Amino acid sequence: MAVKTDNYLMNINGEWVGQERETLDVVNPANGETVGTVPYGGEKEAEQAVDAAYDAFQSWSALTAHDRVGYLKKLNQLMLDHQEELAQLMTAEMGKPINESRGEVKYAATFIEWFAEEGKRVYGETIPTHATGKRLQVWKKPVGVVAAITPWNFPAAMLTRKMGPALASGCTVIMKPSSESPLTAVKLMELCEQAGFPKGVVNLVTGSSSKIAKVVMENSKVRKVTFTGSTEVGKTLIRQSADQVKKLSLELGGHAPLVVLDDADVDLAVKGTVASKFRNAGQTCICANRVYVQEGIYDEFVDKLSKKVQELKVGDGTDESVDIGPLINQDGLDKVKHHVEDATSKGATVVTGGEAITEYGGVFYQPTVVKDVNQSMVVMQEETFGPVTPVEKIASDEEAAKMANDTPYGLAAYVFTENVSRGTQLIEKLDFGIVGWNDGGPSAAQVPFGGMKESGIGREGGQEGIEEFVESQYVSIGMK
Ligand code: NAP
Repeated sequence: MAVKTDNYLMNINGEWVGQERETLDVVNPANGETVGTVPYGGEKEAEQAVDAAYDAFQSWSALTAHDRVGYLKKLNQLMLDHQEELAQLMTAEMGKPINESRGEVKYAATFIEWFAEEGKRVYGETIPTHATGKRLQVWKKPVGVVAAITPWNFPAAMLTRKMGPALASGCTVIMKPSSESPLTAVKLMELCEQAGFPKGVVNLVTGSSSKIAKVVMENSKVRKVTFTGSTEVGKTLIRQSADQVKKLSLELGGHAPLVVLDDADVDLAVKGTVASKFRNAGQTCICANRVYVQEGIYDEFVDKLSKKVQELKVGDGTDESVDIGPLINQDGLDKVKHHVEDATSKGATVVTGGEAITEYGGVFYQPTVVKDVNQSMVVMQEETFGPVTPVEKIASDEEAAKMANDTPYGLAAYVFTENVSRGTQLIEKLDFGIVGWNDGGPSAAQVPFGGMKESGIGREGGQEGIEEFVESQYVSIGMK
């Protein structure tokens, strides 16, 4: 299915707007072609969206949770009905292989489905009283207007992981997708319209992130900002939130270690490494960024991993047989090149890959394995966001824990061992919010997803995901 170039719009208070605005081109990184444009919105549209969401909050929050569920269930079904259209658009705007895009649409829909159900279970509490003349209760209230700012690498799932719990709990939403991949968000907005959400409950603004963020940070009608993206921008938002003590949830960068102990099932560890590292061309926050393998199985692991990596097919994501699409843009490609060049200049060896690919006209990099790396190399210190696996030799479980924790990030980690005692004791030492034990793909809608240290604040998904969008109101009731 070809995606036609089109002018996409913003949606504020139930109206498609922005026709008069300058536009931003959305470029397919596989071939450099423009696949669509969105309006370059700014303060004006952000203010309008805030006002619309604020007005809509009064009636949306007054609905019963059961009423709100109906809208979310319709949206879930519409996403599944439009899976192929959403997937094609996603692949066109950011290069993800089409089968991964289809998978993301399904995954994104699970957040709407899960939180549609979870919305009915936002329970308050009755607490045993210390005084016979009092009754003590905790009531749950939706936070209010929520601004959701999302990255380009999961254009559907990062939005629904925020919209689902926000809408289910009674909040209204302003979506601000990444300028690299906003088209999927526009399509999602169309589906919200078809699902019949009342006007102003869901709004979409595109354009200048700094101008839009300034408004949502400074306007006191916005009570919460939920952000997924880089740690750098997350820190800016923390600073900006201080003046109004605005509630924040932050899903930030990662730098995941993957540890393979010498009693691991090596084939399983190789499979898990490929699944974790090469999904979305290595452009995921939880992808294994650095691999630590115990010395007894190091050579075997590197050999088997390299063979599997050589089988990965690179190309335009619309080709059903492609495993690795392009990087998102030239900056992304330059970063990957720098990480590999820095490693080799300090003594590492490229086992397979190690070069940019220019023949397709896009920003591609060969799936790569680098061995004999050490902690002094940039690739072992910074998020690479590309298809490069550096493998370092370690001696012991203690060294594995020390190396894994040697980072300001704390999002995801992976451990491969068949020994329950070793695995348990190693994981207990790891400062990461998510751990895959013999599992390279731990994400799901019903589990808490989020990071420790500089990887973020709060959790998305699972029971914890909806708590981020409600306030506890303690009510002490005096009896006559
Ligand atoms: P990014 O540059 O931080 O951008 C993320 C979003 O923030 C985009 O919508 C962007 O808009 C907006 N933004 C940029 N500057 C801003 C500012 N000054 N104020 C407010 N908003 C601003 O991140 P990215 O490159 O899109 O995404 C990659 C990063 O996201 C990686 O670090 C990855 O690890 C992280 N990530 C984390 C998770 C998680 O769950 N922890 C999941 C996915 C990705 P514009 O595009 O319009 O500038």
